[in-house]
Amino acid sequence: MGKLYADIIIDISHEALDRVFSYKVPFSLREEIQIGQQVAVPFGRGNHERKGFVVGFSDKTDYEEDKVKEIIRIEPGGVTAESRMLNLAYWIREHYGSTMIQALRTVLPVQEKMNRKSSRWIELKIDPVHGPALLEEYFGRHYTAKARLLAALLDQNRISWDQASHQLKISKSTVDAMVREDVIRVVTEYYYRNPNQEMISREAPVPLNQEQQDLIDEFRQDLMREEHKVYLLHGVTGSGKTEVYLAAIEEVIKRGEQAIVLIPEIALTYQTVQRFTKRFGDRVSILNSRLSKGEKYDQWLRAKQGDVDVIIGPRSALFVPFPNLGLIVIDEEHESSYKSEQTPKYHARETAIQKASMEGASVILGSATPSVESYKNALEGRYCLWELTKRAQNAVLPRVYIEDLREELKAGNRSIFSRKLRQLMEDRLAKGEQMMLFLNRRGYAGFVSCRSCGHVMECPHCDVSMTYHREGMLKCHYCGYELPMPKTCPECGSPYIGTFGLGTQKVESAIYKEFPQARVLRMDMDTTRKKHSYEEILKAFSKGEADILVGTQMIVKGHDYANVTLVGILAADLSLHANDYRAGERTFQLLTQAAGRAGRGDKGGEVVIQTYSPEHYSIVAAAKQDYKEFYQQEIGYRSLMKYPPVWQMLVIFFSGRQEEEVRDLSQKAADILKRMEFLVIGPGEASLARMKDQYRRVIYIKDADYQNLIRAKDEIERWLEQQDEKRNILVNFDFNPMNS
Ligand code: ADP
Ligand code: ZN
Ligand code: ZN
Repeated sequence: MGKLYADIIIDISHEALDRVFSYKVPFSLREEIQIGQQVAVPFGRGNHERKGFVVGFSDKTDYEEDKVKEIIRIEPGGVTAESRMLNLAYWIREHYGSTMIQALRTVLPVQEKMNRKSSRWIELKIDPVHGPALLEEYFGRHYTAKARLLAALLDQNRISWDQASHQLKISKSTVDAMVREDVIRVVTEYYYRNPNQEMISREAPVPLNQEQQDLIDEFRQDLMREEHKVYLLHGVTGSGKTEVYLAAIEEVIKRGEQAIVLIPEIALTYQTVQRFTKRFGDRVSILNSRLSKGEKYDQWLRAKQGDVDVIIGPRSALFVPFPNLGLIVIDEEHESSYKSEQTPKYHARETAIQKASMEGASVILGSATPSVESYKNALEGRYCLWELTKRAQNAVLPRVYIEDLREELKAGNRSIFSRKLRQLMEDRLAKGEQMMLFLNRRGYAGFVSCRSCGHVMECPHCDVSMTYHREGMLKCHYCGYELPMPKTCPECGSPYIGTFGLGTQKVESAIYKEFPQARVLRMDMDTTRKKHSYEEILKAFSKGEADILVGTQMIVKGHDYANVTLVGILAADLSLHANDYRAGERTFQLLTQAAGRAGRGDKGGEVVIQTYSPEHYSIVAAAKQDYKEFYQQEIGYRSLMKYPPVWQMLVIFFSGRQEEEVRDLSQKAADILKRMEFLVIGPGEASLARMKDQYRRVIYIKDADYQNLIRAKDEIERWLEQQDEKRNILVNFDFNPMNS
């Protein structure tokens, strides 16, 4: 694309974010001009000179040729934090599909215009030894107000503006006069809205073990050679990954650089954060969703001004503008919360890697169960694979039992607890040890299975579970293939075929029924709706206020419970048969992490996994805590079925009020993509076909090369520009979807 015209954002302030202006690029600047640069442009009726940032180029303009003004000059001063953010926004827009404004909103916080808390102080500027003489002079001339203020300052060194005006009755003009005389000065102190008030004393780090030390030595050497790599740190829960992050952060701080640490919101608990504050004191700042906008903005400013070295937060903390970024750590890098659910649907891992390469920083991705994508990248040499093989404090891995629910049914056990699990629960209640019962449910699980033989209804084309729909139909959520709901199991003929439902409340009441003496805490969306109750429930449990904690995936993160010696996974099938290609991966992750909760103290633990699919590799490998075995199987499936990360996938959503229009437009788009020779699935109805009166259709395309998918997106965007329907229909893109 040529550089005849430039898209320019005028200032990066709250209001201006809403528009991009078109300017001519003078011939003399065409070589030099770049995206992200700051330029001076004439603006508004009076053509006042304003600063702007270049966010894009084009060969034509939508405005009248002779009304388009010309860029005055490129501002010197290199690449500022803002222009780096703009570059990143531009990359996000290209990579994930969105408008520039949406991308900018993602990377720049909205400036909070709330009144900053501040205080003004009056201080003595002259040497106090000259004070008495001056005081004498003021009195002599009957400057009584000046004399009052000076006397107070000689006494107290500094006094607040409030005190001066209310108690001493000093007017502003008196203060101004004395400022002009260079006798006093006025200083304004701003308070950062800093939520991390608690003072924590620093603690010396634990000595690293050999494995950890080797990794840090390697990291240090890479830094010395200015090699900024992406490291994938794979180690079971408790193997000391966090200690490695802390040591690596120290290395970059020594170089005068800063670090961003991303932790999934749900794992951002007091315990985790405390480990960072103990190490880095008030040089750490925390961003989380409980902060007000103003507090968030202040953390952002502190980072920009270099007042902190480390920032910890969820996905959005990635966009903190450190002056000299040295490292980005992403803990639990496999977590789906790193993918944004709003347009632009960026992935924090990919974006972090891009940001790091733009700014010369390293990246450490850590997980006990790395994403299949990252592990593949590591095996193929794009990331550097770091492994921790032992638990740091030599805690033993738990013993795992896989219980086949079909056998339970055959034995006449109709309870939700298998015989093995019930026996172990009784044992723990008798011993006064704690247990966690875990329901690995994500959102809506509408799959259909046979309670006798465990058969699950799957799409013959896509190899994912079909979902039960209205009017007795089963449907594939990728390709739209439909089947009537069978009355008997096609495998074994049993009539016990149906949707699978189990909720935390049902589990809670089953416990009360079967173990009336047990004290139970339940954690799910209902019980954690209030602001702090997530932490409160976990705290109550760690204090021993209950025997059993029942919950969804929320309970597997964060806290260490020395007294938990039993973990029960009630229905591994709930996540195993979710209707997307990541179901096996997610199940392996959830089971491994849940199992990791058992026996973290010195007692050793046991884990019971209940399932109708005891032979499934995700379950077998999780029981053995064998990541490599899982990976080998999973990558085979992805490759055979052309799913990411072997192939790349792009989802295009169309939504609008008029069903006909949505159908029509999505069909045309699919035709264009087919002509471009993409592998196109759909358009079909989205899994929630109607949402808030919007009718939704979806197209999936697959290709071996991500760049080709970006091309497809660009082509569709360009084509949409020329369609009248674009006003009524919202189109958005999702690359390698995580949450559908
Ligand atoms: P992960 O992040 O992999 O779950 P952590 O870093 O939290 O592991 O380590 C688990 C536990 O082991 C923590 O209590 C931590 O303080 C301790 N630990 C980690 N490394 C060491 C070490 N080298 N020496 C002693 N204790 C360690
Ligand atoms: Zn059956
Ligand atoms: Zn299908």
